[in-house]
Amino acid sequence: MRSQAYEERLKAYEEQLKAYEGRAATVAGVGKDPVNEPMIRHWREAMGDTNPEYAGPDAMAPPTMLQVWTMGGLSGHTGRSEAYDELFALLDGAGYTSVVATDCEQEYLRPLRPGDEITFDALIESVSGRKTTKLGTGYFVTTRMDVRAGGELAGTHRFRILKYAPAQRKQRQRTEQPSPKDRSNPKSRRPRPVINRDNAGFWEGVARHQLLIQRCSGCGALRFPWLPGCNACGCLEWDTVEASGDGTVYSYVVMHHPPFPAFDPPYAVGLVELSEGVRMVSNVVGVPYDKVRIGMPVRLEFQRYDEELELPVFRPGGTGEGGGG
Ligand code: ZN
Repeated sequence: MRSQAYEERLKAYEEQLKAYEGRAATVAGVGKDPVNEPMIRHWREAMGDTNPEYAGPDAMAPPTMLQVWTMGGLSGHTGRSEAYDELFALLDGAGYTSVVATDCEQEYLRPLRPGDEITFDALIESVSGRKTTKLGTGYFVTTRMDVRAGGELAGTHRFRILKYAPAQRKQRQRTEQPSPKDRSNPKSRRPRPVINRDNAGFWEGVARHQLLIQRCSGCGALRFPWLPGCNACGCLEWDTVEASGDGTVYSYVVMHHPPFPAFDPPYAVGLVELSEGVRMVSNVVGVPYDKVRIGMPVRLEFQRYDEELELPVFRPGGTGEGGGG
């Protein structure tokens, strides 16, 4: 049980953290370059964004580039405040030494165009109470940056990080995997698949011994593994097609190390190209690990591992008409 002295120290510490709310994180920051066409072009190419609004002499910058114009690059940021460094030192000093960006929200008030000179300020908007997440225990720090073009507010960028003390590795192993002494035990259970609303339909198919591939309702593109939207056209509507079960080994690796509970190395992990054209990672069974070959025709089957886990795997054979890519 926590002592009263501990509770008082914690309260005093959190009051120290809270005192940073509202203080500046960046003061009088200046964009290293004005908004410019070459950076917009690099962004468009990296994102695959072909919107004509962002190209040509009257281009506007894609709004999601907002933060880009404030970035320091290798030569470092301008205007970072002492308060922000102090807050980080206070968290580091208490053992919250790791950092992960959790989310960001942006609001756009006017378009940015080549030639716009960027200035920005940021403040520490909030420091949360102590939170325990899967990564570890720590504090969420939210920063709000106001981005201006020619002195006029163009957008805001709200950015949240978690400063945390990493969870003990041993504890994670205890909760997520069988202990190392179970390694040699063939009855160790395989890790469970993580089923969520985006892939539940796939696992429902597996339970019926159907391998389901998503098909975009917008452009008809097939996709695997399952995703909420289409990478080709952005459409969120989809249905499914059932794989014929024929495929070929497109590539493979042989796992020797590290050993995982419930797996018995060496074993082959295949990237199987289904005859429908999509590829999936699976085990190639029924053949010695050193006899698996690229181009080998394989056939889907469902293998039961324990009372609740059944997985699609591939066995040499089948028609060999699949893919061939
Ligand atoms: Zn599509």
